[in-house]
Amino acid sequence: MAENSKIEWTTHTFNPWIGCTKVSPACDHCYAEAMMDTRYGRVRWGTGEDRQRTSAANWQLPRRWNRQAQADGSHPFVFCASLADVFDNEVDPLWRRDLFKLINETPNLTWLLLTKRIGNVNKMTNPFEGNPTLPPNTAIGATMANQEEYDRDRMKLWDVAMACGPLFTFASIEPMLGPVILDKHAPDWIICGGESGREAREMKPEWARNLRDGAARFKRAFFMKQMTGKKPIPGDLMIRQLPSFSVASEERGSE
Ligand code: SF4
Repeated sequence: MAENSKIEWTTHTFNPWIGCTKVSPACDHCYAEAMMDTRYGRVRWGTGEDRQRTSAANWQLPRRWNRQAQADGSHPFVFCASLADVFDNEVDPLWRRDLFKLINETPNLTWLLLTKRIGNVNKMTNPFEGNPTLPPNTAIGATMANQEEYDRDRMKLWDVAMACGPLFTFASIEPMLGPVILDKHAPDWIICGGESGREAREMKPEWARNLRDGAARFKRAFFMKQMTGKKPIPGDLMIRQLPSFSVASEERGSE
């Protein structure tokens, strides 16, 4: 799938701004901080530090992708954001409003908003609180690195699905830091990945296999992104399914 992104499960990656605060064990080895703070000194990471909006030229890229998609009749995935969190409460709400306007104006793109702050989404998309509603061409995902995060956040994601009606929901179980047992409230699409980089924490292949089997049991799409340290993916785990939007919403409505 990846064309303009190095991430296997998306075609494009878009960052409306850069900067964040660590909120989960999954953030411990945040590559965005390592690159944008430690390596390039472009922003400082953490609470109270300014987020940096990306350039006007960068904000034009999705319009170009949308024109291409319109011309070829496709609906490519755009992952937003890899160097920040769309639902970070330290971001100027006007930036999020501008982002939602851009998403609304690029209807041929399927926007994947992945957050580690799923508890903020309903409030930040509630028009009765003066916020912009979630654009219709949007899927919402939450990072759930272990069972504790899955148990804590899957119903929050489910509530977002009920309140906001995204195209589908997804869980990024990456970095996978422990076994995760799915249940009937599992998101529509399960992405599994081990950590990479220096001091990568080990994902046992059995955890990934059990997750694959759980996804099959509950008829969720499963995408094996990478093993720990980007080791080769064993043949039986090399499954890269994509979510079916209409099926996903029908199944959610019937459970
Ligand atoms: S939410 Fe994402 S960008 Fe923010 S600190 Fe955690 S890993 Fe880094």
